Amino acid sequence: MTNNIKILDIPITNIRKETLLEQIDDHFCELNGNLFIVTANPEIIITAKNTPSYKEVLATADYVVPDGIGVMIAGKILGTPLEQKLPGFELMQDFLAYANAHGKSVYFYGAKPGVAEQAADNAVDQYSELTVAGYMDGYTKKGLEAAEEIAATLPDFVFVAMGAPLQEEWIAKFKGLFPTSVLIGVGGSLDVLSGSVKRAPKFWTSNNLEWLYRLVTQPTRAKRMLKIPLFLLHVVKERVFR
Ligand code: UDP
Repeated sequence: MTNNIKILDIPITNIRKETLLEQIDDHFCELNGNLFIVTANPEIIITAKNTPSYKEVLATADYVVPDGIGVMIAGKILGTPLEQKLPGFELMQDFLAYANAHGKSVYFYGAKPGVAEQAADNAVDQYSELTVAGYMDGYTKKGLEAAEEIAATLPDFVFVAMGAPLQEEWIAKFKGLFPTSVLIGVGGSLDVLSGSVKRAPKFWTSNNLEWLYRLVTQPTRAKRMLKIPLFLLHVVKERVFR
């Protein structure tokens, strides 16, 4: 059973990872349309709150899952705790493992030139049976041109790594070209999979401190990360005035 929990008026899918993976498996048995997955962090939710067109984009998603601790805390503050955080990088790993085990193909779209290719190489090193439908950087080709080229490879999974809101806008606009694919926005995950950026070590992720690790290792993100306290402030306000 899945249900939605509204955070700042954005419906967040309250689902455990095993259930989501079962539903992905059902999807590939039934092949009834495509699936659009958003991994929502506080920045995405704040942007949607302030931008009606982006809010509409998120409304077209099949799943909007909580990407990190910020959204989990928001669920608690509102008295509607979420089951589990599902960070984009971890979901991508789970989908790669699924694709490897079930003969499904994957496409990597996004990040700077060379990064998606390196990510694809590393994925094949990790999952030896993996079928890579293709890869494309997120700068040279965009919009319809990229969508048509990617769709022509008939990928089962499309990992779109261009950051929010660009990646969700792209998926919402072109998902019609991917009749049965699973399309997911994964932010900076190809940078991590390629080895260009290091993911927070286990200590940091298991103590919900990934945000702090990112702040320390990539201080240029500081301004963007100010959205996290702002997000929590809005959530507290919502709780108080509800
Ligand atoms: N990016 C891209 N095309 C663009 C702008 C950004 O492919 O036009 C890529 C960028 O190179 C990076 C990713 O999008 O790999 C965004 O990563 P970020 O760390 O900002 O995303 P987050 O994980 O925070 O959502």
